[in-house]
Amino acid sequence: MQNRLPLTLDPIKTAQRKLDYVGYYPAQSATRVERLKSDIECSLSFYFDEQKLCVISVDAEVTLEQICQRCFKPFITHIKVKNKFSPVKNDAQAEALPDYYEPVFINELGEVDILALVEDEIILSLPIAPVHDSKHCEVSEADLVFGEIPVENEKPNPFAILASLKNKE
Ligand SMILES: [Zn+2]
Repeated sequence: MQNRLPLTLDPIKTAQRKLDYVGYYPAQSATRVERLKSDIECSLSFYFDEQKLCVISVDAEVTLEQICQRCFKPFITHIKVKNKFSPVKNDAQAEALPDYYEPVFINELGEVDILALVEDEIILSLPIAPVHDSKHCEVSEADLVFGEIPVENEKPNPFAILASLKNKE
């Protein structure tokens, strides 16, 4: 049986105790991610690195439904995210962090909203225009080629208009 994970944690205290968590966030508590089809399974590690920076290592996976932007039918995607964060109190601390950590702000209680952090990672990992594998998509390849013509090319070509005017004469 998997454990339900805490929504918020004090990363400094948790890192001092070198705690790791493996468990899940129930789908119904992850309200910012749309169309979840599973709980969010998640592993969290808290530690201090060689530079004494507090690190929150996050691995999460979830199944969700997306709407294909080609045929507008839903399809199921499995999303995996993995990232390392370091808690900060202000922008100056955030800017001082090495590139390999993402800053995460701690609140006035010294805690990080871990569920929000995981939800943000999932949302950021989603494609802006999700589409089916072409073999599963109900819009054929021929339609697809037509559909991918950039918007600028859809403006009528002025020479084509002239040509059609000439043809009418
Ligand atoms: Zn499709």
